[in-house]
Amino acid sequence: MFFRALNQKVTTLKGVGPAVAASYKDAQIESWGDLLQLSPRDFEDRSRIINLNDIPGDSEETVHINTIVEIVSHTYFGGFSSKGRTLKIVAEDATCDKKLSLLCFGRNFLAKTIKVGQLYYLYGTAAKHHGEVQSSQFELSYIETIDSPLPFPYGQFLPIYPLRGALSQRIIRRDIKNILSSCPTFENELPSYIREELSLMTTDDAIRSYHLPASREMWELSRKTLAITELFYMQIIARRNIFSTPRLSKPVTSTPSELEIRLINSLPFSLTGDQMKVLKEIREDLDYPNTMNRMLQGDVGSGKTLIAWITSLHVISKGYQVVFMAPTELLATQHAQNAAELMGPLGITTNLLTGSITQKNRRPILESIKSGECNIIIGTHAVFSANVEFKSLKYVIIDEQHRFGVAQREALLAKGENPDILMMSATPIPRSLALTVFGDLNISTIREKPSNRLEITSYLVSEQSRERMYGAIAVEFERGHQAYFVYPRIDDSGNSELRDVTNMFKKLQKEYPGVPSALLHSKIPDDEKLDILERFKNKEIMYLVSTSVVEVGIDVPNATCMIIEHADIFGLSALHQLRGRVGRSSLQSYCFFVYGDNISDIGKKRLRALKETTDGFILSEKDLSLRGPGDITGTKQSGYLRLHFSSFVNDTDYILIARKFCDKVLINDPKLKIGENNIIDRVIKEANPFPEVD
Ligand code: ADP
Ligand code: MG
Repeated sequence: MFFRALNQKVTTLKGVGPAVAASYKDAQIESWGDLLQLSPRDFEDRSRIINLNDIPGDSEETVHINTIVEIVSHTYFGGFSSKGRTLKIVAEDATCDKKLSLLCFGRNFLAKTIKVGQLYYLYGTAAKHHGEVQSSQFELSYIETIDSPLPFPYGQFLPIYPLRGALSQRIIRRDIKNILSSCPTFENELPSYIREELSLMTTDDAIRSYHLPASREMWELSRKTLAITELFYMQIIARRNIFSTPRLSKPVTSTPSELEIRLINSLPFSLTGDQMKVLKEIREDLDYPNTMNRMLQGDVGSGKTLIAWITSLHVISKGYQVVFMAPTELLATQHAQNAAELMGPLGITTNLLTGSITQKNRRPILESIKSGECNIIIGTHAVFSANVEFKSLKYVIIDEQHRFGVAQREALLAKGENPDILMMSATPIPRSLALTVFGDLNISTIREKPSNRLEITSYLVSEQSRERMYGAIAVEFERGHQAYFVYPRIDDSGNSELRDVTNMFKKLQKEYPGVPSALLHSKIPDDEKLDILERFKNKEIMYLVSTSVVEVGIDVPNATCMIIEHADIFGLSALHQLRGRVGRSSLQSYCFFVYGDNISDIGKKRLRALKETTDGFILSEKDLSLRGPGDITGTKQSGYLRLHFSSFVNDTDYILIARKFCDKVLINDPKLKIGENNIIDRVIKEANPFPEVD
């Protein structure tokens, strides 16, 4: 039996009632196997004596103690009546003869049970105060003689688990102990040749030591064993399909088509070196017999969309169709306009297909997609709907892929014959993730910005400097430059403390009399939004007062100011995206992150990171370390990030070790059939650690 395959419900454990079961459920623990995968958040070391000699001489630092004491006397302090006073138990450490005072705040009842002259095990914290050693946090446990056997949990190195609801350390420890003692040996999850080479424990020893370790060293070895096992399976699952499809050894050389060259020559600028490099990578991949699965990552404004169009022409010139998917209707519409302007003159037919196009207008579009007359379909989720039929879909481009669910991606794949896929993202994958989850996704990276760009200057603005900020923006208006003001809410109907678009719109009109402006938020109908954006582009509107709908994709090079209020409540990548709306030309741009007095510590760290760098790659690493990987958009639903024993942030070494063994196994035995490798195959079938991705 693999321990993860224990699917008995926790409610079958002795002593687990409805309240405890409900709290387990809140913690996503339903089966015995789930509970065994619960990770401790800390430890208590009760495995060795820590006595009063271990308390540093002259400091008031609080330290843990774990020793045997004999009770000397009961006294009281504070208060004038017998009610107000507090019990103080004086005890002598039987292992070093030193005295300490146990202050029983709210626990005067201990006078009855803790008796003078008797011996107790003591676990707690203590510190020197007023010339004596005092402890107010302690547990005492009666023993007969100094040689009596240790009552549980004394003598143990104990995990401390995260709690919620009705759960306590005692309950969790009891339940885990019950599970472990009612199960015979668990099966190994790593072939013995891997375990021996890395000097790891057996899976059975590891899971038992993880929860009931004999010492810190044993716990660490068990953690290492379980972490490497988990990371090994993550990579096997992600990579085994790639290894089992035969690879061609000879790379193809491909040449740009005439259409591509004509588009590149028509641009008013030349491509950056990185743009040329990724064009070549994508083109070669498109011409390769295997299906392309590639991520194009590059910071906001680095020119990814242009790469999408140029590579589309490569596919179109071979007679195939292309789908370009945008996260919102607004963006799809903008992209469709740009595509038509850019490629219409080359004789390319583009069509917009979104949910809000009426049945009547939809019919001719669907027909032109079916007949193959339409070369590029630009759209939103509507492209997935069942009545869309393609003539020859070959290439799917997904803009800002993190906004698409896995299921939608699959539905689209089902439409064509295994189309090549290019995902574009301005949120780069941190290195540690790239090593694992996306291990075999090919990645093209644009790091270089178009050469005419200046670094955006970022300011962190507190309430006190608000007026100065307004002044600075007024200067930009005088220069004929434009601005975005972003607030988190549309109106104050929720009575929140946060500033909202509707009220600030009025305020700003007073601040900048005569400067034309407009409101932009999700409740404004799409055609009106488009009209507003068009007038903003034409400088008929000088500033937009908006919610974060401007976050992705809007491209107005003359806008030089981005003002984000309550910046601390937005996520780091959203802030980076918002900032990326400016700095899109040779003009100097500014971003103002405005924060309130009650900004949180983590909020402060995020803003500081943003002020320090505009490099999206550095910011994504920062984001990972500030939030932990579970939050990263898009990867969460993939199920990959439900790690129990390991961490993306801290276990890069283990990731590399697991990767090495994974490749060794897959290269020699892609079907997992030889000798002990069948354990791997069985774990994946019977106790998959990452079930959603199977
Ligand atoms: P992304 O999709 O990466 O955010 P875009 O493709 O929207 O970036 O490009 C941002 C802006 O930069 C567009 O106006 C685009 O025309 C322009 N641009 C793209 N490549 C270059 C280049 N090599 N030199 C100058 N401007 C460029
Ligand atoms: Mg873009």
